[in-house]
Amino acid sequence: MQPEINFEELKVNGIKVNYYFICPRKLWLFDRNISMESKSDKVLMGALLHESSYKRDKPKEVLIDNLISIDIVDSLNIREVKYSDKMAYADKMQILYYLYYLKKLGINKKGIINYPKQRKREYIELTPEYEKEIEKALVEIDKILKQEKPPPVINVPYCKKCAYFEFCYG
Ligand code: SF4
Repeated sequence: MQPEINFEELKVNGIKVNYYFICPRKLWLFDRNISMESKSDKVLMGALLHESSYKRDKPKEVLIDNLISIDIVDSLNIREVKYSDKMAYADKMQILYYLYYLKKLGINKKGIINYPKQRKREYIELTPEYEKEIEKALVEIDKILKQEKPPPVINVPYCKKCAYFEFCYG
């Protein structure tokens, strides 16, 4: 059985959880404020889409512990808006992390990921298996962030699209 984690010590912002599932090195570089995000970066595109495409339904954005920012759509759902569905698994784990975080605060919600460009939405529910996966990720994230040197380059096709490409391969 997986031992209980100290959530208060391990909690991080949602982007770090997202990056962990993309690339541990990206997570480490981001945490060290080594920022290469350009104006064309997908993260920014996501933020812009978030601003423009969804002005109509005006969800309530809630900042919790100065750490995670959650869109509350209604009494049942929270939402994430993503520019691309290429990193669907990382996106899913990010919103699962928010659901996990809320559950720790005694709030039970479900999640929706909107991909406006692809006209797609995914419905997410926190199961005990996903809870374990999130806890395992938080432990691993903590280990990675405590490393003095960045984890190795992972060398995957995504690297060409990553904001750190020149840093890793330059
Ligand atoms: S370029 Fe590749 S190895 Fe470097 S941080 Fe990005 S995903 Fe990771």
